[in-house]
Amino acid sequence: MSVLLMSEIIGVVGSGTMGNGIAQVAARAGYSVVMRDVKDEFLQRGLQAIDKSLQRDVDKERLTAEDKRSIVGRINATTELDALSKASFVIEAVTEDLKVKVELFVALDKIVPPDAILASNTSSISITRLGAATSRPDKVIGMHFMNPVPVMKLVEVIRGIATSNETYEKVRHLAEKLGKTALDCHDSPGFISNRVLMPMINEAIFTLYEGVATRESIDGIMKLGMNHPMGPLTLADFIGLDVCLAILKVLYDGFGDPKYRACPLLKQYVDAGWLGKKSGRGFYEY
Ligand code: NAD
Repeated sequence: MSVLLMSEIIGVVGSGTMGNGIAQVAARAGYSVVMRDVKDEFLQRGLQAIDKSLQRDVDKERLTAEDKRSIVGRINATTELDALSKASFVIEAVTEDLKVKVELFVALDKIVPPDAILASNTSSISITRLGAATSRPDKVIGMHFMNPVPVMKLVEVIRGIATSNETYEKVRHLAEKLGKTALDCHDSPGFISNRVLMPMINEAIFTLYEGVATRESIDGIMKLGMNHPMGPLTLADFIGLDVCLAILKVLYDGFGDPKYRACPLLKQYVDAGWLGKKSGRGFYEY
């Protein structure tokens, strides 16, 4: 089985919420990381988030200040796509937009070594489709990290129709090196995590919409009754209501099944700009 050696370079494309988290865990595991974004200011924001997250561990004495310096020193932040030319493994975590991702996969395919793996952290875009945009669909795979990346243990691994077993094994091994558990599924709308989660969130929104219960009751019943760490409406606010709506649309379009239709209240909140925690208001006020 081929594995990723510590001397090999991991490329991370996108330095936002997920990208900087992935860069951090990869550098912490000992890999050299090239983190690419389109603007310096985005990279600086990403590096600051990494610094803040690692500093928390230094303060709690889970990491020494010297180790922190070494981890940060292993991350090369750049706006140059060509800087990824020596990466054996690239994890894409750019904006959830099919056109942007396809263009990026076409460009990466031309730049990285022929045997390099191209992984996507997409929440909902077809891995098969991203693979088809390249000359190496056997080496294209989904590596769906959860937010916040340094904390969450799961990597949902998505095999496109052409993804090889060798690619999967390499990804599983890398996930373990990063301290994560890889669990795989085949490419299908919403994969497993969002296909199961989003209908629950949507149903919770319907119960609110229909006046069946208050937000506190709905969340409290699911939290205390099902032992969920947070209720579905709180979780939706945390994920972002625009993100929830976009994923429900992927499920609805992908399966053509009305059970995935988004609740009108969710659409209305998104229209109002009430996107959850990030906008200061969603089902709750922040
Ligand atoms: P984000 O908006 O925080 O960050 C995206 C970054 O990508 C931005 O900094 C943007 O400048 C950059 N970018 C856009 N085009 C680029 C390009 N061509 N090259 C380099 N950088 C580029 O988004 P995010 O929340 O980090 O999400 C990234 C991906 O991860 C999406 O596919 C999303 O669906 C997925 N995801 C997000 C979460 C989450 O909870 N936020 C969870 C799992 C998966």
